[in-house]
Amino acid sequence: MALQRVLCSVSRRSFSTARLGGLFKASDNLPNPLEHASGLERKQLLAELQGNEDPFDMNIQKRGVCTKEKPHVVYSSFHERLVGCICEEDSENVVWMWLRQSEPKRCACGYWFKLQKVEDH
Ligand SMILES: [Zn+2]
Repeated sequence: MALQRVLCSVSRRSFSTARLGGLFKASDNLPNPLEHASGLERKQLLAELQGNEDPFDMNIQKRGVCTKEKPHVVYSSFHERLVGCICEEDSENVVWMWLRQSEPKRCACGYWFKLQKVEDH
């Protein structure tokens, strides 16, 4: 009988189902992540609040014609950027290459890319 009491006591403590929702209100104790973010994380959070879900242009973009005369333009805040080309639509491989400012580059599949520097994108 004493063993049964001990087991019940332990199991009650181990599986507590107390609700914390009444103790904390979201506006009282949980910090707003924007107040603590800095640098790139803060820039990303602010852009997301303004509706920009891709502030660093990391999403996959559809290519156009991509000829030497009219290359696919890739924007960057830096003088060079690593770019991946999915040469064929159903390919599982990505061909990576460095693009440098004022040096349009041709991928092995024949598509041309060009880096355009922007001050603050
Ligand atoms: Zn390619």
